Amino acid sequence: MKWHKHVFKERLLKINTRDEALVLLEEAYRKCFDVNEIALAFNTTSDIITKYLIELDIFNKKFCYKCDDGAGAWCNKDQFSKNSSHTDGLRSNCKSCTNSHGKQYYAKPEVKEAHKEYLSKPETIEARKVWYKEYYSKPEAIEVRKEYHKEYYSNPEVNEREKERRSKPEAIEARKEYNKEYYSKLEIKEYYKERRSKPEAIEARKEYNKEYRSKPETKEARKEYYSRYEVRERIKARFKERYNTDIAFPLRINISSRVNQSLKVNNTSKMGKSISEYLPYTIQELMNHLESKFLPGMTWDNHSYYGWHVDHKKPVSSFKITSMECEEFQECWALKNLQPLWSDDNWTKSNKYEELTDEELDNLSNEEFLKD
Ligand SMILES: [Zn+2]
Repeated sequence: MKWHKHVFKERLLKINTRDEALVLLEEAYRKCFDVNEIALAFNTTSDIITKYLIELDIFNKKFCYKCDDGAGAWCNKDQFSKNSSHTDGLRSNCKSCTNSHGKQYYAKPEVKEAHKEYLSKPETIEARKVWYKEYYSKPEAIEVRKEYHKEYYSNPEVNEREKERRSKPEAIEARKEYNKEYYSKLEIKEYYKERRSKPEAIEARKEYNKEYRSKPETKEARKEYYSRYEVRERIKARFKERYNTDIAFPLRINISSRVNQSLKVNNTSKMGKSISEYLPYTIQELMNHLESKFLPGMTWDNHSYYGWHVDHKKPVSSFKITSMECEEFQECWALKNLQPLWSDDNWTKSNKYEELTDEELDNLSNEEFLKD
């Protein structure tokens, strides 16, 4: 529909009432939008035209040509979806017309079929993925979605329905299947691995575990679990198995136990911390060091109660170890203070820090093994 100024001028001459003038003004604005142009056609000022347009509340509205079965109607601007390629930033038709038009259109079998085919094309799938990713990564879109979800799921009915849907066996099965596939993807694995290994994530996890472990119900459950005969037997068996097969394991356990003893003397403990965080070397480095000092006949197989032990040249008892951070701890456990020694020789030194007996090992297995 075009704006013909001269036609309006002619029609203006035939107008008798104010209402008729307003009807004509409404039509003029619908076709022209330019207040100054309309003022010229009506032979008045733009201020007066603006005043009447405000009276018609037309600035908050937009004309939808589809409304009323094609007769058209003024709808509030918030009834229109956005379209940034239009000068007023809104779509041509109001939401309800767009929706019903879309519904009618997409209800046609041939359109349905064609659309389905279009959607299943690999290039469409790819393009949609890109579009969605871009669209939903915008902060305003994230905000809108958050708001929407919050509102949607705050509805108790929806919540109930959602719970029910999720608890159905087929939904559980589908979720399992999906998760299995999702988490087996290499890039996903990499992503989570990286996320988990960030210092702040490690810290957060520690904090969480600490809090979780300190809960009375957790303590109670753990106590109950570890008091079960079969559980204790299983742990003992696993501990012994590892003790006898992993040569680094007895070493670590012994050191851990002796550190604990030395701290106990000073009325403190490891505070549940791992020695490996405080020793200035790795277990492997310690093993290399000890091996380099092996006396004839020493092997990792006879690192035992009746074989050789890790000996402190300057005995542990001569240090005052108050924590694993203190200097005395570092000195006591420095590589240069450690050497392998046959047990006979060790006994003659008669310091009270002895290696573990089988019985002590049994007792230890419960506490120590669980920490890893
Ligand atoms: Zn409409």
